[in-house]
Amino acid sequence: MSGSIDDTTLALIEEEMRGDGVWIDPAFARANDISASDEAFLEQTVAGAEHADMKVVLVEIDRDDPLFQGRFSNLSAWLHDSVGGDATYVGFDEYTLPQLSVAAFGDQPETSHAADIATREHPDDLVDAVGRLQELLDDGSAPDLWEQIPRDERYPWTADDGPFEGLGDWVEGLSGTAWLGVGVAVLAAVAAGVVWVRSRRPQTAFVLPTAVLRSVRAAEDRQVQQQADREVLALGEALGAQQPAPESLDTWQQALDHYDAARSVLDHAGSPADVVGALVLARRGDSARASAVAGEPGGPWQPPMNCYFNPLHEGRTERVTWKHEERSVSVPACAACATQVRAGREPDDVLDFIQGDSTVHYYRLDIGAWSGTGYGSVEPDLIAALRRNRRRRGLARLRP
Ligand SMILES: [Zn+2]
Repeated sequence: MSGSIDDTTLALIEEEMRGDGVWIDPAFARANDISASDEAFLEQTVAGAEHADMKVVLVEIDRDDPLFQGRFSNLSAWLHDSVGGDATYVGFDEYTLPQLSVAAFGDQPETSHAADIATREHPDDLVDAVGRLQELLDDGSAPDLWEQIPRDERYPWTADDGPFEGLGDWVEGLSGTAWLGVGVAVLAAVAAGVVWVRSRRPQTAFVLPTAVLRSVRAAEDRQVQQQADREVLALGEALGAQQPAPESLDTWQQALDHYDAARSVLDHAGSPADVVGALVLARRGDSARASAVAGEPGGPWQPPMNCYFNPLHEGRTERVTWKHEERSVSVPACAACATQVRAGREPDDVLDFIQGDSTVHYYRLDIGAWSGTGYGSVEPDLIAALRRNRRRRGLARLRP
């Protein structure tokens, strides 16, 4: 739809930022049904903002754009640099959730969760969402509104969506580079796994008195949460402080994408399953970062494989055949899990979550892309899987 943002366009955007503070790319307007009266409404919105110095820039930024690499955060930082002044930039970022994106510079109102609330209230209308965003920035109510949303409803990726609902496009998506060179045999195994998971009813692993179970779990969840917070923060700092080798820009981009996804998941985490997902994303991002900085000495970067049975298990993995009833699935497993699987047992430390009064192994739950991909162990491109899941849930309806 759009190419990269050339110098002429950039100069035009800067001029508009100094003027009425609204710039809408014509191609973006066409693709998203944004009319002249919508543009007038946005100009009024910006002019009417009482506390925020709002600026609106709507353009789809190409992933290959040499300056901005697909990211609104890069474009807004650039604009702030050249235009100057305290400002709150509002735009569109294909690679974040929500795609309505806010970046504040200088003395500006609190922005946290404003885009989340505006998108929640206007999921199908970007223009209305920007209008609502202005109200939220002015009255500062977004954090309170966010607190009122039950935790398990805040984050759309992991709700009640069956992981294999979109199997058709899922398999289709695997034909390209997303599959990262994993063979057809695995694809067949995954397809077998689909039938297998679907045919299972959730099963309990063991039963503890509910109160005990919940307090034990709450402590464990807190630990994983702290670990995820720490690792995501550390990754962000490392990315800010380091540079990729010149030949490793793609891998560096992977590191940035994984970091953004990890942060987005963590910020919106509705369940312990999401927090584990954020941790997996952060570790993959860190692996890409290290590889890009070193110039990929081990060849083109590939996501590190995690143990199918529990993505928090560390160390090397090996492939095992996991038999269940009449089906066999080839999955990566850590040394401890592999030993147990080869002995014909289900590993004793499978990642599980509380459902009702008991714990259930994660792959017997429907937790969206997490269970659908085995946290990336049976489908290596976890980010693509999360995006597909999001599209299936109709959250990207802003685009044609
Ligand atoms: Zn394991």
